[in-house]
Amino acid sequence: MKPQMMPQIKPRDYAKYPFIVIWEVTRACALKCLHCRAEAQYRADPRQLTTEQGKKLIDDIAAMEEQPLFVFTGGDPLMRPDLFELAEYAIKEKQLPVSMTPSATPKVTRAAITKAKEVGLSRWAFSLDGSTAEIHDHFRGTKGSYDMTMKGIQYLQEADIPIQVNTTVSRYNLHDLQAISRKVKEMGVVLWSLFFLIPTGRAQEKDMISPEEHEKVMKWMVRIAQEMPYGVKSTEAPHYRRVMMQERRTAGMETGSAPLKRVDMLGRAPQSVNDGDGFVFISHTGDVYPSGFLPVVCGNVKEQSIIDVYRNSPVMQTLRDKSQLQGKCGVCEFKTMCGGSRARAYALTGDYMASDTACAYIPSALRQT
Ligand code: SF4
Repeated sequence: MKPQMMPQIKPRDYAKYPFIVIWEVTRACALKCLHCRAEAQYRADPRQLTTEQGKKLIDDIAAMEEQPLFVFTGGDPLMRPDLFELAEYAIKEKQLPVSMTPSATPKVTRAAITKAKEVGLSRWAFSLDGSTAEIHDHFRGTKGSYDMTMKGIQYLQEADIPIQVNTTVSRYNLHDLQAISRKVKEMGVVLWSLFFLIPTGRAQEKDMISPEEHEKVMKWMVRIAQEMPYGVKSTEAPHYRRVMMQERRTAGMETGSAPLKRVDMLGRAPQSVNDGDGFVFISHTGDVYPSGFLPVVCGNVKEQSIIDVYRNSPVMQTLRDKSQLQGKCGVCEFKTMCGGSRARAYALTGDYMASDTACAYIPSALRQT
């Protein structure tokens, strides 16, 4: 994939339309990852959305005037026998850009990837939590997962499907991030997404890195984003935008300046997204959450349209109202562009408007003069 300029996406009113819609098509998964948000199980939940309910959800998403990026996640999406029927319906009949995040298991075959290419998948994301089989397989709870990931990457390269790599940053791979970043370069990916661990599902608070380590990793990410041929983004760490702005100011770089990158047609969010604010998640049973890491039910797509829940749920509306943020996030000069991870605040305090404890920044209003 040749490096080129990033496509520009016009600003979007997140009160009206999300930028990303994630659908957990199933919770079934053959892996047993240490930090699994979904606490995935081997068998599919009998309550998961049927093919027809899935198509109705796709119809509702396609009806949005400003179409979002649509991501099929899991569990493992490949555990759903009707996966490619749903993907084809969304892409070919409804013209939605679809990407997916399958698990690296024996279901990732050349035939599966050829099918993904035929239906017109925009991007395929794999998880990579270590630069070696030892580190990655420990995380994924399954021996051989690393080798299957590498084989899957090879198939994706052969099929010329844009690749994203997701890495969950935790205490167990902090020392390995530099090596992972080099591995990601070799894989020819378009986007490296670093998930900053939220202690929910199987993940625990002791697995999280400290606020100072978050800060250090984010400063390093700003550098990597300049040097590497792929894009770099954070998930559940909106303060990466604050760090990026501060680092660029210090280095005298222009905000928004970026070298040529390997890119696909999906582009990047025009403004920072946060849980319920540009971002919405639909569970395997149709429950709607502000994100997969913030398990507060806002409605269900079997009873309401997704856009109705996203726009009108009191929880979603509160999350978008930055004036209701509490603690240091509430007085922070960066709260409009950042606002902290609402999922982490909820996981650690039970209040989704509390401060994000993973941020080391002290807002100017709280600094001693
Ligand atoms: S204090 Fe909160 S709003 Fe301010 S940069 Fe940190 S996380 Fe973001």
